[in-house]
Amino acid sequence: MRDEEILDILKKAGALLEGHFQLSSGLHSNRYFQMAKVFQYPEYGKILVEELIKKIPEDIKNKIDTIVSPAMGGVIIGYEISRQLKKRNIFTERENGKMTLRRGFNLKEGENVLIAEDVITTGGSVKEVIDLIKNEYKVNILGVVSLVNRANEDPNFDTKYFYLIKVNAKTYKPEECPMCKDLKKYGPAIKPGSRYLK
Ligand code: ZN
Repeated sequence: MRDEEILDILKKAGALLEGHFQLSSGLHSNRYFQMAKVFQYPEYGKILVEELIKKIPEDIKNKIDTIVSPAMGGVIIGYEISRQLKKRNIFTERENGKMTLRRGFNLKEGENVLIAEDVITTGGSVKEVIDLIKNEYKVNILGVVSLVNRANEDPNFDTKYFYLIKVNAKTYKPEECPMCKDLKKYGPAIKPGSRYLK
């Protein structure tokens, strides 16, 4: 599947918005992601995860025991990968700010784990998952996957990282934002994510 076709699906689902946006960081951008929207339509989730799985080398795929993903963003993609690969799937979540395994989920020492996330920007949540399962559960981490890589520089996870598509978003300080200088064309910056839980 070509990058244009993937972007087309993201736009059709409303997961990728183009315009003039104010990010939660205060920066302005020409693109905005609400990746959860892709999974409103299971057929899109299925197709994109099929394509993502093609990016994972066979030797890694064959070794996977369990897919682990951070809630909320990684939960559905983790499940869909597990469904397609017929592997076990669990998720981590924060309790009092600390990433943890709840709900009776467990990992065995030496278990081969693939970590899944929907979109990776800085990779902060994934790094917390790695710290947790490596240090507390002593699993073997095979790699990290995400549908979208929107990092300017690939994060260093100290393991392999595979993604379906790299999407760069330009970000600007408000006072330097070219779209703010042409409000007639772009309109004022909007905050579509003000109610988005991520
Ligand atoms: Zn602006």
